[in-house]
Amino acid sequence: MENQNEMVNAQGGDLSDIKKMFSDYQKKSQGQTSKRKSREDILAKYFVPRKTRETFRILPPKPGKKRIEEAFFHVVPTIGAGGKKRHGTVIYCPAHNDPKVPKMGADGKPVLDQNNNPVLVPAPCPLCAKYKKELVKQDQSLKGIKKENMNDTQKAIKAKNDEIYKEAIKWEAKKFYIVRGIDKGAEKDGVKFWRFKHNYKNQGTLDKLLPILEQFTTTQQADFSDPKEGTDLTILMTDSEFNGHVYKTISAIMFNNKSPLHADPILAREWLDDDITWRDVFKPKQAPGMPPYEFLEAVTTGTNPYWDDSDTNNKHWVFPGRPDLEEAANTRNRNLDADGEEDFEQASDLDEELPRVTINNITESKVGTYNDDAVNLGAQTLAQAAEEESNTTTAEDVPEGTGSGDYDDLPF
Ligand SMILES: [Zn+2]
Repeated sequence: MENQNEMVNAQGGDLSDIKKMFSDYQKKSQGQTSKRKSREDILAKYFVPRKTRETFRILPPKPGKKRIEEAFFHVVPTIGAGGKKRHGTVIYCPAHNDPKVPKMGADGKPVLDQNNNPVLVPAPCPLCAKYKKELVKQDQSLKGIKKENMNDTQKAIKAKNDEIYKEAIKWEAKKFYIVRGIDKGAEKDGVKFWRFKHNYKNQGTLDKLLPILEQFTTTQQADFSDPKEGTDLTILMTDSEFNGHVYKTISAIMFNNKSPLHADPILAREWLDDDITWRDVFKPKQAPGMPPYEFLEAVTTGTNPYWDDSDTNNKHWVFPGRPDLEEAANTRNRNLDADGEEDFEQASDLDEELPRVTINNITESKVGTYNDDAVNLGAQTLAQAAEEESNTTTAEDVPEGTGSGDYDDLPF
């Protein structure tokens, strides 16, 4: 009975701090034997509905978190194994996801406001910068002129602006929703994250999920994520064709009866106590020896480094245009990932929520590329924005090199 009661209490009440201490310790001791999660381990944390019928259980949120979290990712082309172009790689956006960073002045020092506090700006993101740089290529002379009042010359300019906008928006950071839960078809993987894109036409996964969750809440008078009274969700998938490609799409989401998270309270407690967050899973992309900022810069020019496993006898890193880093990465790889910086330990009272962006990465010129004044002349209406959105093929939501890269989620 003791166990049963404990399970009802989603976060273990006042003991959660102490439990965190134990799990932090456990993580550290595990970290010493196996340094970091392998690509397969991380992949196992993705919930990507693929089977005709999937069952997913949403977990209660951790203190201070939401049941459905929001995060931003770019969905852009990259080069992958074999030098092949991958058309929709999902890439973490530092500007939208990282804490703000001090703005640096021309003198290389942080800019201060009138109270002598540093002025904070979004962390630099080369992909966001590219979006804005492309946007401002639009002819500004049309500002404020309605389409019906345009002469032929202006209409031609508008058509050109629309083209520029269409290209630019491909580089914009997109909003995604992330739900933490258990894939009942793969319980051994533990806590997983279901990530799906926001849809401006209200035809996305969230738009299918929310009414079902609301219906459960109203009819059952219970919290759908409750470990005792919540519900397993049944997700029915179907193949659907769009622009000549076949996609997996959700045909229906249904809730089931109220049920405990799991019949085994010890397993349920293990899931509830797991501290893994989406940030542990949907990590910034990087390559050995290359700062994350430079990696993103390389993505904007189509020269990103990639792990080439297309020849099983010769798996290696490729760094287009950077033979120095390529050599180092492949040497390092043979040396079983002997790197120093990630192991650098710091005092335990350093707030984990502090900016993770190191200031020495930010120069004045990098911060300067962030242009907040960019005006989107092309998208004069939300409807148009939605139309552009539907033309963007949504990412394959699976890390590279998983063998399932040919399957895309529906672009809306
Ligand atoms: Zn960005």
